[in-house]
Amino acid sequence: MKYLKPKQHYLDLYDRHTVKSCRDLIGIYSVPSENLPLYQGKPAPKELVDSVGKMALEWSLMFEKGNRFLKKEEVVEKWMTEDAEKDRFYEAAEPPYGIRCLTCQKEMALVHKDLWTELNKPLHVLFMYDCPNGCRPGRMFWDNSEEWTPKPHLCPKCSGKLKLKDRTTDKKFITDYLCASCGFTKTEELERTVHSQEESDPDFEFNRTRFCLSKEEGEKWRQELANMEEMKKLVDKWKEKDKHKTEYDAINNLKKLTVVALENLLAPLCEKAQYIKFQLGTADIGKDLTVPFTVHEANPDRADLASSHALQKIVKNALAGTNWRLMSDGISYRMGILTGRLRAYEREEDLLKLVQKAVGNSSSQPPESKLGYL
Ligand SMILES: [Zn+2]
Ligand SMILES: [Zn+2]
Repeated sequence: MKYLKPKQHYLDLYDRHTVKSCRDLIGIYSVPSENLPLYQGKPAPKELVDSVGKMALEWSLMFEKGNRFLKKEEVVEKWMTEDAEKDRFYEAAEPPYGIRCLTCQKEMALVHKDLWTELNKPLHVLFMYDCPNGCRPGRMFWDNSEEWTPKPHLCPKCSGKLKLKDRTTDKKFITDYLCASCGFTKTEELERTVHSQEESDPDFEFNRTRFCLSKEEGEKWRQELANMEEMKKLVDKWKEKDKHKTEYDAINNLKKLTVVALENLLAPLCEKAQYIKFQLGTADIGKDLTVPFTVHEANPDRADLASSHALQKIVKNALAGTNWRLMSDGISYRMGILTGRLRAYEREEDLLKLVQKAVGNSSSQPPESKLGYL
């Protein structure tokens, strides 16, 4: 186990990042804003600017702390998986055998094995070999047996070989380049990254209690976030209702009839048009509610299609403005008995479709048939 460390190491590291990002936020908010909007035509009073700034900071911190908590397990898990993979890759990498010294041809000895990691690049292992006779330089090979050859640093003026000299200070790595042929010199500096953030933040433990949520606090945040999400959905629904106000008003205006009320509506209308003994059958109560009906033709001058068409018109007109519709299989006529099925619309989304259809058709139809036909 070279890379993979105990879980606590990663939890600490994650918390250090959280502390840093929260402290950065405080830093950002502590810079006085420029171009503030005027308050009642004048520059806003300092107390107002301060209290608004404080609220904005508290708000940002709350989200940062909460969201960092929510991602913690996942990120720590990812880091541990990556480090375990580095260990596995390092262990599995096989050194090339039979590497000989380019000077004395003796077989060289493997003296070092090193894992190379670069962000978003595949892992590599580099093997270093030394000559038993002490010839210089040694040789280096990647895990795919390719030899690593250092690129010579060339003088930009005369293309001669540059000599390198490294120095380090507390804060920087410095390399001096010198061309022996033409005297060209240059210096490159690299900031030293602070290896342990512990050194850079003596108040880490204190800040950790300020910025890193405990499990209990974090779960409370998760719940609050879910509540906010619910609230947003509710507001969206109100907005949606507002947008489709005409349709929702139309739904509210529909008469929602019970089966008995339905019978009481249709029977007298049929009777008036000489269709007698109107009767509803047993309702089929599934996902949708449907009811069959029968009625008898009492007009001796009317039969077959003429009879069923006339009845269809009566039923459709009667149901317009209610949540019931004649089903699309229509009305059939046999030996003076007419049968058909009626369907109830109950769910909001179905009612919405029903009225949208009616509203959509309304332009070309007389007003009394609005909401009327399927
Ligand atoms: Zn040698
Ligand atoms: Zn030169």
